[in-house]
Amino acid sequence: MIKLGKVPLNSDVSMKCRCELCPVQGISACSTPQVKKMIDSRAEVYCSVGLADCKDLDNTKQCICYQCQVYADFNLDKADPKDYFCFNGKVLD
Ligand code: SF4
Ligand code: SF4
Repeated sequence: MIKLGKVPLNSDVSMKCRCELCPVQGISACSTPQVKKMIDSRAEVYCSVGLADCKDLDNTKQCICYQCQVYADFNLDKADPKDYFCFNGKVLD
């Protein structure tokens, strides 16, 4: 079973997630279908469940989580970690 952090895993969070539009995974052949599946299935989001499996993400690009309503809803600017959840893992308290 997946152990969640601060952000719950539910359809509201999944629907608001913007990772599909993020340049960090924009050219990743690995993650594009995975994130699409993640959004379509309303199954997972990185701030909730943590690290991406894919190793071809480009963390020199800007994480766009700060544009996301979930980011505002859960005050993730004050969280740990506070961005790049696909690299840094899920949000703890
Ligand atoms: S904060 Fe980031 S990982 Fe979490 S739902 Fe929003 S875009 Fe997705
Ligand atoms: S967690 Fe941030 S860096 Fe990772 S794919 Fe989502 S928006 Fe981009």
